[in-house]
Amino acid sequence: MLTKFQARNIKLPARLRRLSELAYNLWFSWNDSALSLFSRIDPVLWNQYQHNPVRLLTEIDPAVLEKRAQDSGFLKTMDAVLNEYDEYMAASTWFSQQYPQHTRQAIAYFSAEFGFHESLPIYSGGLGVLAGDHCKSASDLGIPLAGIGLLYKKGYFNQKLDGHGAQFAESVSYDFDKLPIIPAYVPAENGAAPGEELYVTVAVADREVRLKVWQVQVGRNPVYLLDADLEVNSPWDRELTAQLYGGNQDTRIAQEILLGVGGVKALRALGLPTGAYHINEGHAAFLAFERIREQLDKGLPFHVALEIIRASTVFTTHTPVPAGHDAFPMAMFDYYFSRLFHDYAQHREAFRQLGYDQGKNAFNMTYLAMNAAALRNGVSKLHGHVSREMFRAFHGDIDVREVPIGHITNGIHLPTWLAPELKELYSRFLPGTWTLNQANPDLWEKINLIPDESLWSVHKSLKEKLVLHARANLREHRRRNSMTAERIEEVREYLNPDALTIGFARRFATYKRANLIFGDLDRLDRLVNDPERPVQFLFAGKAHPADHPGQELIREIYRVSQMDRFRGKVVLLENYDMNLARYLVQGVDVWLNNPRRPYEASGTSGEKAAMNGVINFSVLDGWWEEGYDGTNGWSIEANNEADFETQERENTESIYRVLEEEIVPLYYSESGVPSPWVKRMKRSIVTLAPMYNTDRMVMDYTNVTYVPSLQRTQHFVANEHEEATKVADYKRFIRENWHHVRIVEVNDGGTVQNAEKEVTATVKFGPVWYKDTAVEILYYEERPGGWEPVLVPMEPARELEERTVLYRARIPGHLKHGAHFSVRVHPVSANFIRRFELPLLTSL
Ligand SMILES: *Cc1c(COP(=O)(O)O)cnc(C)c1O
Repeated sequence: MLTKFQARNIKLPARLRRLSELAYNLWFSWNDSALSLFSRIDPVLWNQYQHNPVRLLTEIDPAVLEKRAQDSGFLKTMDAVLNEYDEYMAASTWFSQQYPQHTRQAIAYFSAEFGFHESLPIYSGGLGVLAGDHCKSASDLGIPLAGIGLLYKKGYFNQKLDGHGAQFAESVSYDFDKLPIIPAYVPAENGAAPGEELYVTVAVADREVRLKVWQVQVGRNPVYLLDADLEVNSPWDRELTAQLYGGNQDTRIAQEILLGVGGVKALRALGLPTGAYHINEGHAAFLAFERIREQLDKGLPFHVALEIIRASTVFTTHTPVPAGHDAFPMAMFDYYFSRLFHDYAQHREAFRQLGYDQGKNAFNMTYLAMNAAALRNGVSKLHGHVSREMFRAFHGDIDVREVPIGHITNGIHLPTWLAPELKELYSRFLPGTWTLNQANPDLWEKINLIPDESLWSVHKSLKEKLVLHARANLREHRRRNSMTAERIEEVREYLNPDALTIGFARRFATYKRANLIFGDLDRLDRLVNDPERPVQFLFAGKAHPADHPGQELIREIYRVSQMDRFRGKVVLLENYDMNLARYLVQGVDVWLNNPRRPYEASGTSGEKAAMNGVINFSVLDGWWEEGYDGTNGWSIEANNEADFETQERENTESIYRVLEEEIVPLYYSESGVPSPWVKRMKRSIVTLAPMYNTDRMVMDYTNVTYVPSLQRTQHFVANEHEEATKVADYKRFIRENWHHVRIVEVNDGGTVQNAEKEVTATVKFGPVWYKDTAVEILYYEERPGGWEPVLVPMEPARELEERTVLYRARIPGHLKHGAHFSVRVHPVSANFIRRFELPLLTSL
């Protein structure tokens, strides 16, 4: 384990002492036995306290605990859970077996939000839940990962709707002493008194902001959260960590400085040896500034410092829309870094250039992240492609396929999202170690052995659970809005557990087009009110308080849900969070997702649904574009080349058509157990579960980014940074002299033999050594999937005059220079991790 974890001691009867450990380790959030143990202490309080075990144990009547301490049934279960926990914490892991040489250095994972559990509300949506699931799988796999984030005093808001569907954002000030977090302590080896709490200080503009460091224990690994709400800070600075995505641009840049710079300082103060850094979305990219500054203090030149940082940094981008990337006006940026620029005046321009967007005269966080990270990726295959298009100009307009941004498709943490009832069922048919081998497709084939009746009956029970939960949610909304007793009571009749049930829940951002299904209300009416084959819809989601079009979507759904013809059949639930998300992705029949393509970078809620046998019905965007195979769900079609309005019309038509002609008939194909439907549920689980889980995803990150970064960094810094210095000097030299490199002449007049001919090119290099470049012919060939680039390396034939070299290659005889092919030169080096690490290219 990376660090020692010492839970706070909650005052408990002696026999229950170890419940403190369980309450302070988020391990409980993905272990059903632990969750049900806490629930058993007092089910009502447990629900009332958002399933927060720390609050439960601190606020409950001590007499109840005394009673549990005498209850042998309870004690037996508790001991079994503790046993499970101890075994988990001590087990040998995938990482310790695969990479025993890398267990001593942490991978620091920086993210502005983390969604671990509803009891710790420091997430707003998919990005946070992904970060939480990433940390949980890292723990399961034994990867020494330390998370870094901010601790928001008011978290993200609670959503309340009024009697017209208007969203009211309720903010709650959390008592940190009642959350499952503990203060981080100064390591004893620094001469600290035991229990001395850890603080760091960060320069923000001309001020010093002090941060308290907290620790969330996520299984084997820590996540550190920074908190500015301290008396020593000015009232304005105390507010900096008040809310997730609150405030204005000033709040935003200041938060990002606290996260990036403060996070690195916290790692140092903790004495945690850190070998690689993961920037999860641009918000965290300022970590590069602090790390460069550290290297400058060691006496390294800026360009060498940057090479070391690049080698050890991984960047994941999540936003396929240019406007979604954080950018700050240069004047604001200069103001907030005035202290840094005062102390490191000679490097001011170099720091600014790292994120400078000339077109907008702004400092772009994604540019900074890309300049600071040698390895970058999008979050699905399609999003990788969209990102390469979007950042092609940033890389010197090379061919889009060569832009150095890859992809690692998002997944979800299976133990968190799979219904306990299904875990039990799957365990009866899958090999005993299935949870440790989720990424193995062969293992999932065994799902086909489950009798249809068994899978269907578990699914039905989950749907009934959802219906009860939804009714309670609706009742609470009506009660709070002082509706009549009759209106409150009628909710009892809402939602039919036997009807085909479709779920739509996610943040209400406009690109997700939550109202698409309302394009033709009469047609919807016919679906919903079919007496033989009824369909019902559940909606849920929050809109950001500043997103007025998003809130208008909520009002529209609410209005439809109140129409007589849709009453109790189209419902909108309040306060979408991880708790409600679990009920929905486990309990509906179909998961609907119809974003404007390609705006959904990945999407993950459909992945949660898939593992639970809920069938996806979605636009071919994000993960579904690669997950859908024609048999494991349904696609919502449109001509992707058409304008947005046409696509919207076609998508809407497609939704109705597929529902009417395929989904409804399949669901109602047989009375009793609908075998054709269950067959598709199984197809969905078998084909999607092994791929779209975070174990597979985090193993990919480890194999493809973390371990290569750790190794490359070790190589770069050895012998007084010898390699880093060489690479940095080399890059600088090439950049400064590249303008000398010119292709003077291309001759394609060679005789055609065997349908091939020889082409020669004359290249003038100036001071650049010809062996530090690659000279290539580029042409395009038509293949089944479209036009593909073909690269033919050219060989140096002889030196014509000083620093001018003749190259030659053989290519198909019909290709003409200028019309069909071009010749290009770009720098290469054995130390580049990607072909176009230096975005320099000369072509003719
Ligand atoms: C999984 C999840 C999301 C992400 O859903 P998408 O459909 O991928 O946007 C958002 N919010 C919560 C609470 C979630 O659990």
